[in-house]
Order: sequence, then structure tokens, then C-alpha cells
Amino acid sequence: MDTALDFQIQKVEHSRLKDLSLENIPFGKYFSDHMLEADYENGEWKNVEIKPYQPLLLEPSLAALHYGQAIFEGIKAYRTQNGEAVIFRPYDNFNRFNKSAARMCMPEVPEEIFVEGMKQLIELDKNWIPAMEEHSLYIRPFMFSTDTQLGVKPSATYKFIILLSPTGPYYAQPMKIYVEEKYTRAAPGGVGFSKNAGNYGGSMMAAKEAQKLGYDQVLWTDAFEHKWLQEVGMMNVVFIINNTAVTPSLEEGTILEGVTRASVLTLLAEMGLKVEERRININEVMDAYKNGSLKEVFGTGTAATIAPIKELRYKDFVMQFDVASNTIAPKVKQELNAIRYSLTEDRFNWLFKI
Ligand SMILES: *Cc1c(COP(=O)(O)O)cnc(C)c1O
Repeated sequence: MDTALDFQIQKVEHSRLKDLSLENIPFGKYFSDHMLEADYENGEWKNVEIKPYQPLLLEPSLAALHYGQAIFEGIKAYRTQNGEAVIFRPYDNFNRFNKSAARMCMPEVPEEIFVEGMKQLIELDKNWIPAMEEHSLYIRPFMFSTDTQLGVKPSATYKFIILLSPTGPYYAQPMKIYVEEKYTRAAPGGVGFSKNAGNYGGSMMAAKEAQKLGYDQVLWTDAFEHKWLQEVGMMNVVFIINNTAVTPSLEEGTILEGVTRASVLTLLAEMGLKVEERRININEVMDAYKNGSLKEVFGTGTAATIAPIKELRYKDFVMQFDVASNTIAPKVKQELNAIRYSLTEDRFNWLFKI
């Protein structure tokens, strides 16, 4: 493949968009007219095509289904106030995708396929980006192993796909969170920093048990002491303690390096808060709660942007937050949205124009 122009493009005859209203469309349920698909074999990427969204025909011996070499990304494209189509920080997701790939012994996907392919796909389906407030087009790139021989080893063949799914506003209800002490999401040396499918499968039991106790999600803790805080469900977590934003640091490899996390930290610093990426444990959080310095706790991620926490429970100790009086979380969310929809200057160069 010389250039991105070599993509094969096969267009639909009739867009399915005519039969669909994008207003308040639920997350991840509908997919656009086209998808991008590419195959890796004999050490190179080939068969890069953009074609009508369609089912895959796969053998039941497919390696990904047995041994779990499967990774993904989540990105959003927006229709800005002046009608332009933009993708939010796609290079950050591209770099993270290839870090996930390396950890799972999967091949890197080149920029011409991941970023340029995504751009061409969205160009073709740009009418699927809803032009309504708080709406967006969710982009789901993913890769999985496709060898068809049983035997535990890195596959020699892979498939890479990009899907597009229009999505309405995500009304992040304030969450009730249970501090997890039994199950572990990630340990040093593990795969917590990679966005691989198994991390999600492995986390569902904890969420399910928390839900039985009346909580929405868990706050993950470290594998050894169950005291050092990691993430809230599948979101990064930020604690506002007086005028400081504290979030768990990345160096242990147990935390997914969220693009929203990085964006929120940048904006918090710009707003004049002190930002600390470091280890934080539940005792510090409880002490801050007791002495009144813990002001807000929230999760960050592409789907919800910012999800406020109204209750945090550790053993029998319940911490409650008056979410309606939060000032930091709503302000940073508003600022992030203002950048995405070009209501304010893109001063950090986060928008990639299509
Ligand atoms: C995807 C993900 C996040 C959020 O990352 P964003 O880039 O902000 O969407 C956080 N934690 C986990 C475990 C994730 O999989």
C-alpha cells in the first residue's frame, strides 16, 4: 500500500440514515452505512477497504475467541458550531492503541490506516455526525487475532475494523460507588494499561455484586492491600481536595491512560487548580472527607466525559457528596464541550479537522 488513496471504497446504494432520527439516539446501538476493514498477514497490512457495514464470516476456531488477543479504542467526532466535522485527539488514541497492541503481542496498525482510514470513513459517513447539542459520532476501532488453529501463541493473522456509531447526550447520573476489596482489575505486570477486551469481561462480576448492594459501580483498588485507588468502573477517577486535583498516577501500569483524563487535567490546571498525579489511598480520601477538604469526586471517560459521584462507600463508612453544589466538575465539562464544538478557541490543538 503506497498511500491512503489506495483504499478500496465500496459505497452503499442507499443510506440507512433516511429511516433514522439521530436525536437522542442511544449509545452504541446503531452503526453508520460504512466500516473500514483491513487484514494483517505475512507481516503486513493488506485488503484495506471501506465498505458497507456488514456481518463477518469467521471460523469457530478463531484465535481471538479462545485466547483473547482483542483490543479496542473509543473516540468521538463532533459537528462543530460552524458545521465542521472534527475528531477529538485521534493521535492520542492511535498511540494508545499501539501500546495495547504491543502488550498483547499484536502488530502495530500504521497511521495511514488508523488515522487516515478513520478520516476517510468519516468523510464518507459525515452525515452520521449528529448536528445537535451534546451529540457526537462514536468511533470504535478494534483489532483481533484471526488464526484458525488451536494452540496458545500469538496469532500470525489479525483483522482491524473501524465502526461508527451516532450517539446522543449521555446524561451521567450521579453515581453511587462501592470501594472494591475482593476483586482486582489490574496488578503491576498485568494488562491494566491496555484497552483489551478481557479487562472488561474480568470486571463485570465486581460491578454486578456492587449493583446487588445498591451501588452503580466499584472503585478499583490495588491487588495487594486493596487500599490504593485505581479507577472507577471503566473510567479514570479524580478527587478534588481543597484546591488540588488528585488522580492516580500511571507508572505502575495498572491504570488506563485516558484521553479524557489528560484533557481534564490540562483544563483543571488552566483553571488554576494544582494537579497531582500520584498514589492515593482510601485512608487519605476518608481523612479529607472527615475534615471537609474533599470537595468533589468524579470519573472521566469518552462516553460520559465526566460522571459525578454522589456516594462512596468503603467497608461501613459512607461518604456522601452534594453533587448539585459541585463547581469544578461542571465547569471542566462545560469547557471541554466548548472546545469540542468550537464554541471557544482550540488552544491545545485537540481538534483534528476532517
Ligand atoms: C477507555 C477507558 C478509560 C477512559 O479513557 P478515555 O480515553 O478517556 O475514554 C478509562 N478506564 C478504562 C479502564 C478504560 O477502558
